Amino acid sequence: MQTNVDNYAFMEHKLVVYNTLTRKKEQFIPLHTPNVGMYVCGPTVYGDAHLGHARPAITFDLLFRYLKHLGYKVRYVRNITDVGHLENDADSGEDKIAKKARLEQLEPMEIVQYYLNRYHQNMEALNVLPPSIEPHASGHIIEQIDFVKRILDAGFAYESEGSVYFDVEKYNKQHNYGKLSGRNIEDMLETTRDLDGQTEKRRSVDFALWKKASPEHIMRWPSPWSDGFPGWHLECSAMGTKYLGDEFDIHGGGMDLIFPHHECEIAQSTAALGKETVKYWMHNNMITINGQKMGKSLGNFITLEQFFTGNHPLLEKAYSAMTIRFFVLQAQYRSTVDFSNEALQAAEKGLQRLMEAYTRLQKLQAGATTTVDIAGLRERCEQAMQDDLNSPIVIAHLFDVAKSINTIYDGKAYISAFDLTELKETFKLFIEDILGLQTETEAEGGNSDAYKGAVDLLLQIRQDAKANKDWATADKIRNELAALGFEIKDGKDRVEWGLK
Ligand SMILES: [Zn+2]
Repeated sequence: MQTNVDNYAFMEHKLVVYNTLTRKKEQFIPLHTPNVGMYVCGPTVYGDAHLGHARPAITFDLLFRYLKHLGYKVRYVRNITDVGHLENDADSGEDKIAKKARLEQLEPMEIVQYYLNRYHQNMEALNVLPPSIEPHASGHIIEQIDFVKRILDAGFAYESEGSVYFDVEKYNKQHNYGKLSGRNIEDMLETTRDLDGQTEKRRSVDFALWKKASPEHIMRWPSPWSDGFPGWHLECSAMGTKYLGDEFDIHGGGMDLIFPHHECEIAQSTAALGKETVKYWMHNNMITINGQKMGKSLGNFITLEQFFTGNHPLLEKAYSAMTIRFFVLQAQYRSTVDFSNEALQAAEKGLQRLMEAYTRLQKLQAGATTTVDIAGLRERCEQAMQDDLNSPIVIAHLFDVAKSINTIYDGKAYISAFDLTELKETFKLFIEDILGLQTETEAEGGNSDAYKGAVDLLLQIRQDAKANKDWATADKIRNELAALGFEIKDGKDRVEWGLK
């Protein structure tokens, strides 16, 4: 059937994404164009977000922004884990949130709200767009109980002393447990076959769908099996399919979630629904510190708040939220990133140079012709994005053209009105809309226009004073601004200022 959709960019795009499930790059073709369903595992809200949380948030924000740019109507679901995530990601031990609540003598939901608010503040600072839906695990207990029932009915789970476990061995006879992570389940079953008969589980590879709460456990709900709480993996199967349907396009998260979390999700959904739920599994790589995984127990754990204030022994200074965002985007999301002060300071300088060129671009005057090579920037940036979101290549293309902008700004080259308009549009599209970068004063949420206007006004008064040979007033303005941290450069026909 011929439909009139020629004006939609998505009909022409060649977006290719790496699918962890097939281990190759695939063309992105949604199940129900122009709608795209995307689910990303969100935070367990029992502590402040750290650099490791920033990477998936920024990676999938980049994807969300790019899909919208292509013309898709994206429903982006990012969950909040507020129950059932036990220590060490295991089936035993204390609930992470309940433990924090006990230590701080607060209601678990006070802990959740406190850290969720702080998470949202961090995300806003990083210019990460809010998802379309942010469901809480604790708000979907009924859906999760229903999901357990379906898995039990399908015969892939068993009840044991009030808890319900997923039967991995039985599932693996008909399906492939380990298909996402590439783990060999036969080996796992072999090594765990005869482990202690004391446990409720038949096999140690089996995982909890529902856990009976011990008497002191405060986060508990009634169910057909016991007063208890859902297993950690279950919420994503239940909430993903509730909001995106039994089959949806994209499921994302950090690589550390591939096993067991996402492997278990696939097993749960396939067992309950009889089919594969997710078409493209996408995973961002980790951020390491001096080659080590970041973790509370390793003592190299730096929260985003600490980056923003510089208040951590490993940090030489404070780094702005935009520096962190730029630092993350300077690497393709599937490559590793190692944190160091040097790398962050390089990112800070790079971002400054790029944003300075972007500011200068707004001030350029059009000439009769273009004497710099800036052709095809938009196409080259699109190609880089379409190649599995290759943001570092986009940034490299923007830097190439930034050099030309500076040359034109210095009066050593020219740009036509047509090319200037196209360049402004392309820079805005990639810098602001897709990469989500903001100038720092904007990012800090101040009245940046009023602030800039005030400094410009002072400098204008200084120019007037100079014109009247009132050197005392002119010097006073310059010296006082310098004392406040401003740097003022007197050019041939304009005065430039910035913060030192
Ligand atoms: Zn999840």
